[in-house]
Amino acid sequence: MIKGFGGNQLRIDLTTGELARTPLDERFAREWLGGRSFIAKILYDEVPRDADPLGFENRLVVTPGVMSGNFAPSGSKCCFGAVSPLSNGHGDSTVGGHFGPELKFAGLDLLVFSGIAPKPVYLLIDDAKIELRDAAKYWGLGTMEAEQMLKEDLGEDFEIVAIGPAGENLIAFSCIGHDWGRQAGRCGIGAVMGSKRLKAIAVRGTGKVPIHDLKALRDSTMAIIKRTAKHPNMAPWQKYGTAMFVGWSNQHGVYPTHNFQTTYFEDYAGIDGQPLVDRILVSNKACFGCWMNCGKYSKVSLPGKPTVFVEGPEYETGSLCGGNCGFNTIEQVAYVNWLCDHVGIDTMSGGGFAAFAMECYEKGLITREQLEGHELRWGSIDDFEHFIDMIVHRRGIGEWFARGAKYAAEQIGGGAERLVAQVKGQGMSGYDGRGAPAMLLSYMTADIGAHHNRAWTITMDEDLGKTVIKGKAKVVVYLQHIRPFFDTVSCCRLFWGEVDVTAEEHIDAIKLMTGWSDFTLEEAMRLSDRIWNLNRAHYLERNGGPGRSFDYPNARFYEEAVPSGPGKGARLTMADLDVMLDEYYEARGWGKDGNPSREILADLGLADCAANLQKRGLLGELFAPLPAVRGERYKPKAF
Ligand code: SF4
Repeated sequence: MIKGFGGNQLRIDLTTGELARTPLDERFAREWLGGRSFIAKILYDEVPRDADPLGFENRLVVTPGVMSGNFAPSGSKCCFGAVSPLSNGHGDSTVGGHFGPELKFAGLDLLVFSGIAPKPVYLLIDDAKIELRDAAKYWGLGTMEAEQMLKEDLGEDFEIVAIGPAGENLIAFSCIGHDWGRQAGRCGIGAVMGSKRLKAIAVRGTGKVPIHDLKALRDSTMAIIKRTAKHPNMAPWQKYGTAMFVGWSNQHGVYPTHNFQTTYFEDYAGIDGQPLVDRILVSNKACFGCWMNCGKYSKVSLPGKPTVFVEGPEYETGSLCGGNCGFNTIEQVAYVNWLCDHVGIDTMSGGGFAAFAMECYEKGLITREQLEGHELRWGSIDDFEHFIDMIVHRRGIGEWFARGAKYAAEQIGGGAERLVAQVKGQGMSGYDGRGAPAMLLSYMTADIGAHHNRAWTITMDEDLGKTVIKGKAKVVVYLQHIRPFFDTVSCCRLFWGEVDVTAEEHIDAIKLMTGWSDFTLEEAMRLSDRIWNLNRAHYLERNGGPGRSFDYPNARFYEEAVPSGPGKGARLTMADLDVMLDEYYEARGWGKDGNPSREILADLGLADCAANLQKRGLLGELFAPLPAVRGERYKPKAF
């Protein structure tokens, strides 16, 4: 029996209804650890390069990693992955709550869905009893409605993930909802779930995860709990969660406002952490095994709208569905948050893409006629709601946006492509990179497109200088190894990022769970490096090359200066971006074209990727000696 893991994998062929539960191979588990790494490996090996992300051949992979469900710095997460309909490359997205741990308690570390069900179904896992069931009665329900009805039908002790109407209608930025307000939000994994006609997964596990040294694990975790309880960041995180960063981000000139036209929102005080706590908070909310409870459960009543409950708004929603759309009260932001959760779209893409459409409307690129006689004004809840409804039901220009805002921009024309904040089709996270060049580089190079979770560099941009370009790429590479590692092992990275639980302490916990006494941080970082290169190869094999051609954001970020606020005057040029990309490719051991070199792929045990890239003429030519490149790859001097 593998220590630290549930011990089994489950293959579900939705076309035939065939289910196959087999033991998880320990060598595979040690080599890939779980979470996004399992996903990357399976997608690379199993999905044909020309497969439609919303077709039969894509896979939907669900996997909690080694730390999920274990008593350790919050092992609460579960990773969902597929080839993304937004980027057409590897996609993954992690959700907290209780679903990942429950899968482990049912003895499962990996679910792989293939094919398409002939009619809507949900997967029931009740320990060893596993069935595909008719989902007709849940089809059409919002994510939270489906969760509630499934709990009523099956029992409160089931953990549920579900898609909403957006996922059912294959909207490219659909999410998967869980635990009344948490989401695997990015990469459109909810659309892939919808394309397979899989409405939900319900799991109840009553088993235990076998642990190598339970006493030592308990003692070390208790010591971490006691120490971090006194950390100065703990109290504000418990009180406000990430919502407190609205004011901080605004003050530092990186807060996206009116579709990233500027970086300062005059009315920020109405949507920061304080009004959340003062006006709408019902209670704090935590994921499995968490003592930080950054989740905020809120109740909102807006005139003319139903009273709703929502988890949030956290920072990304408070920025992209806040000042970016011109909403200036916490009630408005929370309502929009609920609306996106309800229909099952990612709040980040939903807010970002709606803000893009608002600017198009302001500039006359989208007309009232195209909006079915409605307007699309900054800060109008009714306009926002109508526009999202057009997308979810694919009416009129909603059909363009249903395929992602990059596609919509190409259809709108008139220079709209300059305005849509994205890289590789993924809507940009809630930080403007003109005042934080490393953050922009992080978006440009992230394997899933413009998402901050791969490398959040804002404080480092502050420390090293907001206008400094050179020397930051190595730090971005380092963060792109350490931060996604938490999505591999499925624990919350906030304990590492905010209250100083070290990476080494996480490695020690994994050793105590598994008994892998020779497991090291370097092995973990090397795995992250390996996944990064695997995903890059996968992206190029699907989309062609050169890699560099995919690594630029929309033109606003290298053509326009920030016009107002503390970030006023912040500006980057195309030449600046190229300097950063050159340094980045050198630090990665890639060619100047942004394609991985044979040398780095061989070094990471990815000779098959090198052969596949060579076949397609996509191998990069190393332009700096590999040993020199490797020197700081896993821990640059800045850390
Ligand atoms: Fe979940 Fe927040 Fe706790 Fe992380 S800190 S485990 S996101 S409640």
